[in-house]
Amino acid sequence: MDISTTAFRPARRIEDLGVSEILQITARASALKCAGRPVIILGAGEPDFDTPDHIKEAAIAAIRRGETKYTALDGTPELKRAIRDKFRRENGLDFAADEVTASAGAKQILYNAMMASLNEGDEVIIPTPCWTSYFDIVRISGGTPVAVPCGADSGFRLTAEALEAAITPRTRWLLLNSPSNPTGSAYGEDDYRPLIEVLERHPHVWLMVDDMYEHIVYDDFRFVTPLALAPSLKPRCLTVNGVSKAYAMTGWRLGYAGGPAPLIAGMAVVQSQSTSCPSSVTQAAAIAALDGPQDFLPARRDSFAARRNLVVDALNAIPGVTCRRPEGAFYTFASCEGLLGRITPEGQRIDSDRDFCAWLLESANVAMVPGAAFGLPGYFRISYATSEAELKEALARIATACATLD
Ligand code: PMP
Repeated sequence: MDISTTAFRPARRIEDLGVSEILQITARASALKCAGRPVIILGAGEPDFDTPDHIKEAAIAAIRRGETKYTALDGTPELKRAIRDKFRRENGLDFAADEVTASAGAKQILYNAMMASLNEGDEVIIPTPCWTSYFDIVRISGGTPVAVPCGADSGFRLTAEALEAAITPRTRWLLLNSPSNPTGSAYGEDDYRPLIEVLERHPHVWLMVDDMYEHIVYDDFRFVTPLALAPSLKPRCLTVNGVSKAYAMTGWRLGYAGGPAPLIAGMAVVQSQSTSCPSSVTQAAAIAALDGPQDFLPARRDSFAARRNLVVDALNAIPGVTCRRPEGAFYTFASCEGLLGRITPEGQRIDSDRDFCAWLLESANVAMVPGAAFGLPGYFRISYATSEAELKEALARIATACATLD
């Protein structure tokens, strides 16, 4: 390597990591939109609802009271109390004050936890398809992500056999996400029980669960978090959550977790040398979100459920496309395998999900994320956190475009 050059040399820990494909696609779609094209972007991972007023008011009141200074490193005592109350009330989990932590988003919680626990070569089992950040957070933290493919036949869920086969002496964590980004699949009690049995046989494997979409579940699906089913896992389980999705607070940046005190203390060390406390104003807002009325949630759920049905039904009506009806989150993960090998009117062959999504963006002005970005090629993700009118228009465009394939 030429060390005389002033050119930027990335550190090895980020050398192989790119900017997330979702962000790249969104940037390309936004650029086309700015240039005047009628692009509909079905890529966003955030609710299109507004933050409820009582939460905004709590933040404004905090500013007026002068709560604009640094706070305790990983959450004010009042926020930690609200987090503990939430875990007890909604999940039946009891955490002591030193067993909960708050950060600038669940993403930072995951990052803190991996940075605090992984050494070079430690393995993290990640069922795929999965949220794109998991792999890179593990890599930046020096760990090795171990992808376990979970196809549509298991509802994109990890099975006990696949988990058992993936565990090695180097396994540090199993990372589960339910309901899932990108598939919307969720683990019910019956799905978790066999996985818990495997974990009970392997005491060196810790469990990290990402419950971000807890409040966005449909029909008669009953959300449950694994620690509530297996209290014996308490010394090795980190339960991660946040206010972004439930309360439409993605820009406020507040995530939280409950877990064993030594891990929580390690996470505080990482946070103390990166961001310090989460925003004082956001913490006040999060207390209002967790303590306050929850009665607006069912209406939002119903609205998402109606859009889910609209999208799933429209996708399944397109020859060559199949889509499972997910239990939660605001994503569908549909297969376009039946369209691969077909020829577009422009004479281009659709060889992959990436080709399919790129072609729909260029020819139908609809932006979606290819399944390959989440570790499962042959699929594409739609975020239906957008208006019904836009969804209908987008799906009509997709159907029309697909009908032109030869
Ligand atoms: N986990 C999952 C599965 C997500 O989809 C997201 C957001 N896209 C997060 C965690 C991070 O949420 P935040 O940092 O906004 O709390």
